[in-house]
Amino acid sequence: MAGTAVRGRLSWQTATVGPVTDETAKVRTLRLEVPDWPGHRAGQHVDIRLTADDGYQAERAYSIASAPGEPLAITVERLDDGEVSPYLTEEARTGDQLEVRGPIGGYFVWEPGSDSGGPLLLAAGGSGVVPLRAIVRERSRAGSSVPVRLLYSSRSWEDVIYSSELDLPPDGVTVIYTLTRTQPPAWHGYARRVDEQMLTEVAWPASERPLAYVCGPTNFVESVAAGLVALGYPPGRVKTERFGATGQ
Ligand SMILES: Cc1cc2nc3c(=O)[nH]c(=O)nc-3n(C[C@H](O)[C@H](O)[C@H](O)COP(=O)(O)OP(=O)(O)OC[C@H]3O[C@@H](n4cnc5c(N)ncnc54)[C@H](O)[C@@H]3O)c2cc1C
Repeated sequence: MAGTAVRGRLSWQTATVGPVTDETAKVRTLRLEVPDWPGHRAGQHVDIRLTADDGYQAERAYSIASAPGEPLAITVERLDDGEVSPYLTEEARTGDQLEVRGPIGGYFVWEPGSDSGGPLLLAAGGSGVVPLRAIVRERSRAGSSVPVRLLYSSRSWEDVIYSSELDLPPDGVTVIYTLTRTQPPAWHGYARRVDEQMLTEVAWPASERPLAYVCGPTNFVESVAAGLVALGYPPGRVKTERFGATGQ
C-alpha cells in the first residue's frame, strides 16, 4: 500500500484551476482542483508542468500555500522574463487545466510537535513567505500555541504578499517586516536587507532552542541561515528552502 501511495504522489495528475486571487501587482494565488488529492503537510511543494501546443514542456516547483485540510493552492510571483510564472500569474484562468505532481518534500515540513518544544523563527524573502504562511495556518488549525516570529523581507509595502492576513496574526505570532527598497511615509519597521544586527534583535535567543525555517531566493536564504548559525543556532535547527536565483 505504501508503494502505491508513493507512486501516486510522483505521477502527474491533471489539475483544474479554481478561483484565482491577486495578492499584489505581480503575485497571484491559484486554487488547484485535483481529483483524489492525497492531502499535504505545511512546508511541502508541488511540481507544475505546462505543455505548449507544439508539445514543448516546462516544469517548475511551487510551495503549497494552503494548510493541510484546506484546498490545494499555490502563490506565484511573476518574473517578467520567466517561462512559467508569467503564464500562471497572467494567463491561467479558472477552468484551465495543467499538470501537477506532489505533494513533495519532507525536510521543510512543520507539524505540531516537530519543534521539540522551542519557539519558531520563520524568515521569508519575497515569495519565500508562501510555505511559511502554510505553517502559520497549520499552527492555528492544529491549535498549537508555539510562539512564532515571522521576519518577512520585501522590496516595498506594495510587494508584501498576504498583507491583510499577516496584519491580523493569530495570538502568539509576531510579524516583523523589513522593506528593502522603498518604505511608506512614517514607516517604523526595518528598511534594509536582513543582517546579523537585525537577526540579533528579532530572532529568538539560541538558548531557547528555537527551530528556524528560512525560505526565499538563494542569496537571502544563505545569508540568513549563516547569520542564525553565527548567533548560535545549531545548523540542524535551521531548515532552508531555496527558490533559486530570483533576486529580491
Ligand atoms: C522548492 C521550490 C519552491 C518554490 N516555490 C515558489 C513559490 O511558492 N512561489 C514562486 O513564485 N516561486 C517559487 N519557486 C520558484 C519557481 O520554481 C520558479 O523558479 C519561478 O516561478 C521562476 O520560473 P519561471 O519559469 O517564470 O522563470 P525561468 O524561466 O525559470 O527564469 C527564472 C529567471 O532566470 C533567468 N534565466 C532563465 N534561464 C536563464 C539562463 N539560461 N541563463 C541566465 N538566466 C536565466 C530568467 O531571466 C529569470 O529571471 C520555488 C522553487 C523551488 C525550488
